[in-house]
Amino acid sequence: MDSDGKTVRAKSFGDTARKYYDSIQKDQVYRLSRFRTAIANQRFNKGVTSQYEITLEESSAVEPVNDVSTVNAIGHIPTESLLNIDALRNLNLPPAQQTDASGRQRTEQVPVDTMGIVLSVKEAVDFTSRSGNTMRRRDLTIVDDSLLTIDVTLFAAAADQYTTQQLDAHPVLFFRGARLSDFNGRSLSVGFGGEVALNPQLPQAQRLRQWYETKGHEATFTALSGAGVRASSSRPVTFLGDLRDDLLMMKLRQSESGTEYASVRGYVSLPRIDNDKKPWYEACNNPALQSSERPCRKKVNGTPGSYHCDSCNVSFPECKYLYIANVSVSDGTGQKYVSVFNEDAEVLFGCPASEIAGLLAADMKDRVDAMLTEQNYKLCEMRLRFKAEMAAQGEDRVRATAMNLTVVDPASDAKAILAKMEPLDYQIMSW
Ligand SMILES: [Zn+2]
Repeated sequence: MDSDGKTVRAKSFGDTARKYYDSIQKDQVYRLSRFRTAIANQRFNKGVTSQYEITLEESSAVEPVNDVSTVNAIGHIPTESLLNIDALRNLNLPPAQQTDASGRQRTEQVPVDTMGIVLSVKEAVDFTSRSGNTMRRRDLTIVDDSLLTIDVTLFAAAADQYTTQQLDAHPVLFFRGARLSDFNGRSLSVGFGGEVALNPQLPQAQRLRQWYETKGHEATFTALSGAGVRASSSRPVTFLGDLRDDLLMMKLRQSESGTEYASVRGYVSLPRIDNDKKPWYEACNNPALQSSERPCRKKVNGTPGSYHCDSCNVSFPECKYLYIANVSVSDGTGQKYVSVFNEDAEVLFGCPASEIAGLLAADMKDRVDAMLTEQNYKLCEMRLRFKAEMAAQGEDRVRATAMNLTVVDPASDAKAILAKMEPLDYQIMSW
């Protein structure tokens, strides 16, 4: 990073890499010469401003510059790139190239610079990554004066950069190049290519600290991370009748990302379930991944007693059952068919898919029907994501997928409506 806050990635290989790994110090200024440059592969060049990258070779020179004071990289952050947590909530993440096994569209992670007060922190722990390596991680939650909290995972060296004691004292934590993703609601992670700084010398950091000490510490916060958490709770609800497929298709054709969103509220009707119509699939149950952050969700082959996941290349006796259901959502203005995946579907069916699968396997279809009757027609709020997909006749059609589904609680809903009516009441009285 230079004094303007511009960043470029430099790499080296083999012996050269070993030499620099031992000699290059963080925060030290260097003069680089006799290196190669090339346009970087943007896939591996996230979090830096330059589209070029530097390759250091045996003949390159990397000389420390000692006549300038050590640069505090954090001190040169262009402050316009700093996003508060409310901005993180509203940032639109671009859709990823691939969908996962269940057809769920993932979104890309986006590098962001942000800052917050550490609200809570867990101990750093080892965990097994998807590729089977042991890795280090630490989870914490930050908050800022937008009264929103977001979960942050620090990976590898970042997990142990500060002690639990330091982080426990509600310091300001600054993140450069943290990855914002839609994982678990909305969350941040810091690993390779990201930086963390404790109590940075930035005016914004001082203001944040002051806010927390005077009012923040006793305020009530809304979480952006967590299962079943709605990051979009303040978004207005759209009537289903206004989400006509022809209008959506027009919008999708014009939109750059090919994705449209709307929050809706409606009654959900569940599909019929029997032996040849199951709203779930048999998924990977790789024992090595059970404790990892992102277990494999791929569809598996096999029969009870012997399943195989081609992606993990592992066999196991029992598979997992994950919902993939098509439900109907209706409000007073219209109706829509919506795809619902496992966690959201569990809310609708009132139990994990394995429970219904077990009843079916035990020939207890009556119990299944009774359960469905009981769970049917719940009033729910959800975020819908619309994408165009090719239908059988070669015509595009709109596919709707539900996210962040929650059941509306009538009591708190009524209270919210009353609170909205209060000012109206006053107007009527004074009339
Ligand atoms: Zn697997």
